[in-house]
Amino acid sequence: MATIAAPEVQAETPHILESVPNWIGGRAVHGEAKAFGDVFNPATGQVQRRVPLDGASELDAAVAAAVAAFPEWSSQPPLRRARVLFRFRDLLERHTDELAAVITSEHGKVLDDARGEVMRGLEVVEFATGIPHLLKGEFTEQVGTGIDSWSYRQSLGVVAGITPFNFPAMVPLWMVPIALACGNCFILKPSERDPSASLVLGRLLKEAGLPDGVFNVVHGDKRVVDAILDHPQIRAVSFVGSTPVAEYVYRRGTHAGKRVQALGGAKNHMIVMPDADMDQAADALASAAYGSAGERCMAISVAIAVGDGTGDALLARLKDRIARLKIAEGTTAGAEMGPLITGTHRDKVRGYVELGVQEGAMLISDGHAQESLPPGEGFFVAPCVFDQVSPDMRIYREEIFGPVLSLLRVSGFQEALELVNDHEFGNGTAIFTRDGDTARAFANQVQVGMVGINVPIPVPMAFHSFGGWKRSLFGDHNVHGMEGVRFYTRVKTVTGRWPTGIRAGVNTSMPTHG
Ligand code: NAD
Repeated sequence: MATIAAPEVQAETPHILESVPNWIGGRAVHGEAKAFGDVFNPATGQVQRRVPLDGASELDAAVAAAVAAFPEWSSQPPLRRARVLFRFRDLLERHTDELAAVITSEHGKVLDDARGEVMRGLEVVEFATGIPHLLKGEFTEQVGTGIDSWSYRQSLGVVAGITPFNFPAMVPLWMVPIALACGNCFILKPSERDPSASLVLGRLLKEAGLPDGVFNVVHGDKRVVDAILDHPQIRAVSFVGSTPVAEYVYRRGTHAGKRVQALGGAKNHMIVMPDADMDQAADALASAAYGSAGERCMAISVAIAVGDGTGDALLARLKDRIARLKIAEGTTAGAEMGPLITGTHRDKVRGYVELGVQEGAMLISDGHAQESLPPGEGFFVAPCVFDQVSPDMRIYREEIFGPVLSLLRVSGFQEALELVNDHEFGNGTAIFTRDGDTARAFANQVQVGMVGINVPIPVPMAFHSFGGWKRSLFGDHNVHGMEGVRFYTRVKTVTGRWPTGIRAGVNTSMPTHG
């Protein structure tokens, strides 16, 4: 396997396209893949490079590099591993604009949003620099006469992360800093739709002093995912993506004896009570529904207006916000919403808009007819809201993952709560109200993992943990925070005494230390 600097020619297209390298053993490696996918600039619709899809032999090489690096890395004092992360944190901050530009060019989100994504990832690095403290164990003196016992957490070995397109830097950074801080080596399989941010992470980690082989990137599609899930030397897999794939990854990975955390899709509801500040609620709703063109797992895609008049008050304000949304290429100054990730996904989202009309919901797309969108071949979709949505409609039940908001109207809080609880997903939710009792009852009774009270996108900070309930998460651990430390380590408990205590001779009964 050779490192190839020159761009290669893609057989199917007349253009010479750069191929995205893997990152193995601390260097860019092109490998021997036969199948390639297109990486678009979603704002122009143009293919800008290609990505290998079937690099199973590259996966073997990456695992071999990680296995070789593990003994040395895992035996480093946690403080030394933390120092690498301190430098990485600094580099991430200095290269935020570079990373954001890469994200915007392949994902399409607006630059400010891309910078925000890098910042949320950087915060996980900051959390992970506290690893000497986070790995402190427990000690009990005198569990029996002259006997002490202590527990501590040790790294797992080689672990892998499989990540979605919508946060090409932040989601890998939910996993990588904590896994490395705990002493593991990491294989990242990023989304094949925006693979390049992962290489910037690899380069910066190396610059920060991370030993070669501790962090590796292997590109690919299902073929590489399956190879990860079946690989006997990969001990644990973190997955973030859609629910059907999350469930598949969880089943196949655990069947192969691995520890798996698999975060899936969402349909996040925001309840607006009649006593809410309607302007604040409308601002929050427009931001949470149309930010990143709705391609966030914590986007609000359902608004539930409670009580007479709430729906109309909210809708009037929402129409105003939609009409003023600046839809443009992510690099345009002041742009608020960019394109969707691919033409295929744009067509799927448009299909849902047509379906909603057929199902009898009332389509409102104020000021943004499809024709008013930026010219050219970019994958833009007009933001819209459906009024008169009912729970039996597919546009309500299914995750659309685009700028499409459904509005439902109910008479009371209990009815709203039941809607949230009856939905198959349970990732995030929010309530807008001025009433403390209602907010408290909501937080207490709602069957959802992440809850906002007058906060529309309640993404937990790095030192808390991120994860949904129901079919939004398969496995027992959330990501980052202490849950991340637990996921990437296992507990060892030692019971010890010194020779003066070993004078009783052979005893075949169950040891009782008292
Ligand atoms: P996706 O499920 O299509 O892809 C995720 C990863 O799985 C990618 O790396 C992809 O290569 C791989 N993959 C795709 N199909 C596969 C298959 N059949 N078998 C094995 N692997 C496969 O998801 P996406 O479209 O990239 O991302 C959007 C989805 O991710 C949405 O459903 C969104 O809600 C979800 N998401 C969830 C969270 C969360 O924290 N719960 C966060 C971000 C995104």
